[in-house]
Amino acid sequence: MKENFDSIVIHYDEIGLKGKNRTHFENKLIDNIKSKLKTISKRCIRESGQITITIDSKSNIEKIRDILTKIPGIAHFSFAKRSELDLEKIKKQSIAIIKEKDFKTFKVDTKRHDKNFRIKSPEVNAIIGAEINETYNKEVDLKNPDLTLKIDLTSRNSYLSYEDIKGVGGLPTNKKQKVVALLSGGFDSPVAAYLMMKRGCEVIFVHFQNQNQMTGSVQDKIIQLAKQLSKFQLNTKLYIVPFEKLQKEIIMKVHSTLRMLVYRRFMIKIASKIAAENRARFLVVGDSLSQVASQTLENLESTYKDSEKHIFSPLIGMDKKEIIAISRTIGTNDISALPYGDCCSYFLPKHPELKATAGKLQFMEKEFDIGSLVEEAVKSAKLKEF
Ligand code: ATP
Ligand code: MG
Repeated sequence: MKENFDSIVIHYDEIGLKGKNRTHFENKLIDNIKSKLKTISKRCIRESGQITITIDSKSNIEKIRDILTKIPGIAHFSFAKRSELDLEKIKKQSIAIIKEKDFKTFKVDTKRHDKNFRIKSPEVNAIIGAEINETYNKEVDLKNPDLTLKIDLTSRNSYLSYEDIKGVGGLPTNKKQKVVALLSGGFDSPVAAYLMMKRGCEVIFVHFQNQNQMTGSVQDKIIQLAKQLSKFQLNTKLYIVPFEKLQKEIIMKVHSTLRMLVYRRFMIKIASKIAAENRARFLVVGDSLSQVASQTLENLESTYKDSEKHIFSPLIGMDKKEIIAISRTIGTNDISALPYGDCCSYFLPKHPELKATAGKLQFMEKEFDIGSLVEEAVKSAKLKEF
């Protein structure tokens, strides 16, 4: 980059609303940024209600952008050039930073985050605007400018930038807020997991490996999904649970119209144990109301009914289209679209039960030695960490 940015200004929305806990959230976000940027960030501090990072002017901007757009808690950020709190220096720097930019119209948008600087924002806008107009002969357009020069004034520095990059938003990852997400190879569950990460949870993944899946390629796909999602948090665990034996038993003992529901109740029992082992508080699934037969209100009620852990379904009110749109922004869409053996046909009868009661499912489950089946599944799970 020709601009040789030396800083990044990070803005956060919701942390700002946290009242007394604000510092706690800010410190968490700073720690998370430092841990993700490692040596790239030379200094990462709180400065007048925002976070500023000092970087080497030769840093790989694209790489940093990719990392910062995936850190929960960051609402938006800009690569910037730092200057002292001195109007003449700000003028000079403003002219320099936009030198190579191609634009016809512009505006200056100053924010005094600290009233230390004696000149008010509108006045700074006017002074710097006049300087740019004089130097480059460009016109001011306050409504729809080609270029917006942003000036952030903190208690000690001024930061100049012209591109505002959108982040994840939400809240910084808190390693103590753990949940376990049931991750299938589809489009929905990765989005459900992401939405929990966005709210500050650390998500542990559990995948149940189906009988008819070609082991290698499915594992590959699930690992790819978990790896992509791991970019949004600090540490990621993925449990792959072999499910073949249990599936066979379900096929033998449960009527085809109910198999999917018994199957899902077993997944929940096993995932609850893994959650308990990891001190995770909730389970997370990618259910969306009435998207498929197993997700009618009645079936969801009986599926969730006996779960040891409470279950979150962050996609419950979302349309498929909305889910797909998010999957594109988080980079899981292309991975989810890869072919894989979805649940076998024994679990997808032509006319599945739409209103199964929990009692009916509990009755079916009497045929199983649930305790030892669950224990065996948990024991045989393979753990991968990213
Ligand atoms: P997805 O697109 O995430 O696969 P779906 O619409 O295909 O969801 P189902 O197959 O009915 O829905 O599964 C509902 C939810 O159950 C999934 O979102 C996921 O949380 C969980 N789930 C289903 N299959 C598996 C599996 N093999 N391993 C782990 N979780 C699963
Ligand atoms: Mg699925």
